[in-house]
Amino acid sequence: EAKALGRNRTAVYDPAMQDKAAERAHYEARLRGAIRAGEIVPHYQPLINLKTGDICGFEALARWTDTSGRSVPPPVFIAIAEETGLITELFETLLSRACHDAASWPSEVTLSFNISPVQMKDPLLASRILKIIHDAGLDASRLEVEITENALIEDPELASGLLKELHAAGIQIALDDFGTGYSSLSQLARYRFDKIKIDKSFIATHDDERQDKIVLAMLSLGRSLNVAITAEGIEQHQQLAYLLAHGCDIGQGYLFGKAMPASQASAYIAERQAAGQTA
Ligand code: C2E
Ligand code: MG
Ligand code: MG
Ligand code: MG
Repeated sequence: EAKALGRNRTAVYDPAMQDKAAERAHYEARLRGAIRAGEIVPHYQPLINLKTGDICGFEALARWTDTSGRSVPPPVFIAIAEETGLITELFETLLSRACHDAASWPSEVTLSFNISPVQMKDPLLASRILKIIHDAGLDASRLEVEITENALIEDPELASGLLKELHAAGIQIALDDFGTGYSSLSQLARYRFDKIKIDKSFIATHDDERQDKIVLAMLSLGRSLNVAITAEGIEQHQQLAYLLAHGCDIGQGYLFGKAMPASQASAYIAERQAAGQTA
């Protein structure tokens, strides 16, 4: 105990620790300011129904361009938001904006939204989501929440309750980054998902035989569980051809488009529909 205390006492006066605290305070202030100034906004990456070629949804991806014009990568500022407790404020701001944007899209185009593992501990999460979609006038069936495997392991009871609440409201649930987290398969056994998103690391190399076989197994798993499969990170035509040939349902990746601002999303839908009519 004395040893632990000694360690703690040293830590308090550790100049490196103070720097860290100062750095954190600095980022927290910057992030709070950025959220309130509207510097962080959702962009939208298309999700394509591979069988029809139609756009079936957009995934909202947070983008922060600071006042000097530099963009901060989402994993960086989301981690800061999680550590500083700003994640709820950031989430509410982004989801509200995204729901308003999505309300202007055709009704068959859904909105996918990422939930941070830290948010899973918030017992009010479901009611927060429901209030936001209600205020935006977006039908619950048009929202899909993306959750990673790691978000489900900490408190399975709480997670299970949350997913049930969301399902009961008509919201869809996707398992994101499938295959990269802990105990992927036990998650599939425990929870009911509407969609599985194969992580882009499995799609990245189209000429790796072992990897292709794993993707094949994931597609077959989706079919037997009757869960739609999305492949992330499609960049090349060969990847698309392989996924298409093996019955993958939905595709996402730079081949179809990067995340774009709301002002371009509507034009993208119109273009895609026009292309479909002539095909
Ligand atoms: P994610 O949910 O798995 O999102 C997909 C990521 O893959 C996005 O990175 C997207 O830009 C990238 N991506 C899509 N297609 C391709 C492709 O063809 N090639 C490559 N190389 N990358 C592709 P992004 O936007 O940097 O986001 C990274 C992660 O940050 C997301 O991974 C998600 O976990 C998190 N994130 C982003 N926005 C939000 C948000 O609003 N809330 C929360 N909680 N997390 C978010
Ligand atoms: Mg996602
Ligand atoms: Mg993902
Ligand atoms: Mg990811």
